[in-house]
Amino acid sequence: MGSDCLFCRIAAGEIPATIVRETDTTLAFRDIDPKAPVHVLVIPKEHYADVAALGRADPALAGELLAAAAVVAEDEGLLGDGYRLMFNTGAYGGQEVFHVHAHVLGGAPLGPMLCR
Ligand code: 5GP
Ligand code: ZN
Repeated sequence: MGSDCLFCRIAAGEIPATIVRETDTTLAFRDIDPKAPVHVLVIPKEHYADVAALGRADPALAGELLAAAAVVAEDEGLLGDGYRLMFNTGAYGGQEVFHVHAHVLGGAPLGPMLCR
């Protein structure tokens, strides 16, 4: 995907981000507009549009993404009080950036899962 994709450009180091964790295959960085005291995005470096495309094409990489998110949650001190791991998917899911990313959210009570 490369130059057209914001998160591919962050993964390539072309756009700055506050990186909190990096592995060979994943990158975690702080959301530019945090919706909770802790709001970290975890992406595979390889481009997949959403979590369904990733899970279908490379389940092992999907597992690495989940493992990376779990380490981020621990490093951010979220294990005791808990946190939310979220993959917005498609238009109705509210996805705005079409490079799969897990939102790691925590640091305060997050309220109900959805506003009705
Ligand atoms: P989505 O709605 O696609 O699930 O989430 C996209 C997230 O990316 C939003 O929470 C938004 O604040 C974040 N975001 C958008 N542009 C940037 C950026 O340039 N840098 C960082 N770090 N986060 C971004
Ligand atoms: Zn991308």
